[in-house]
Amino acid sequence: MKSFMELLAEQLKRLKAKYGLKANKEKSADFKRDSEKRILENFNNRIGDLDKYDHHECLVCKNRGSFMKIDEKGYLVNVPCKCMETRKMLRKLKKSGLSTNLQKLSFNSFLAEEPWQEALKKAALNFTQDDQCPWFFIGGQSGCGKTHLCTAITAYYLGLGKSAHYMLWRDEITKIKSAVTDFSEYTRLVDPLKKVDVLYIDDLFKTGNIAKIDSSGPTVADVNIAFEVLNSRYIDENLITIISSELVLKDIAKIDDAVAGRIAEKTGSEKYCLNLPKDSSKNYRYKNRRGSKDSK
Ligand SMILES: [Zn+2]
Repeated sequence: MKSFMELLAEQLKRLKAKYGLKANKEKSADFKRDSEKRILENFNNRIGDLDKYDHHECLVCKNRGSFMKIDEKGYLVNVPCKCMETRKMLRKLKKSGLSTNLQKLSFNSFLAEEPWQEALKKAALNFTQDDQCPWFFIGGQSGCGKTHLCTAITAYYLGLGKSAHYMLWRDEITKIKSAVTDFSEYTRLVDPLKKVDVLYIDDLFKTGNIAKIDSSGPTVADVNIAFEVLNSRYIDENLITIISSELVLKDIAKIDDAVAGRIAEKTGSEKYCLNLPKDSSKNYRYKNRRGSKDSK
């Protein structure tokens, strides 16, 4: 694939031949406009190959990952396509070992053998059809299928062409906290979390030892960043937020009332705010090996 600079050089050569070297002011403006238009068209017509790496098809950018446009000041600029957020998420899922889960962890493959499992699945499915409540929360008992259902919901929205970001809380919060003194790096990390169509936060407030919330629980910085991101998404009605946590909402309220309050409100309280108190009989990672062993 030719680089942008090579394309530009070729284009300039062609147009110089067409307009001659003694271009007056008007000719020069035409030359510039014509040149930019052709560069823009050439670039935007090219077929990219990003889908070879992540199997994600994008009709908007033809899998190039970006397109060219003339900005409001009249400059030719290269803008990243919306699909890049999704591609980033797919890369992250791959890194976290969850990539195959997008196909594997679907609603169809969620085993609902008991009434409580049926109720979780029903709530997750209803959520995807409900425009009134844009947030989904599932907290508590490990191994009850939280990741499975949240992944299935995320995959549903990806299928609708929405951009999505997978945030494995413990990993990402560490990176963000290390950037708090670097404004541009902090913005680069936090902005997508505030703006992406679908944000899936996996294991909110997980710090390593959930049994000791008081001593090794989330820090003030953790809570502040969670609030900053969630509050920004709270204000924008169109953004979908999916949260899983080993904590039930009551525990989150002990950490931060404002964060818990926003989750309760946006999930329509009991509708899509699913709290599963500790109950080892609901840990089907151990109970039912025939079920998805990747489920949390
Ligand atoms: Zn695209």
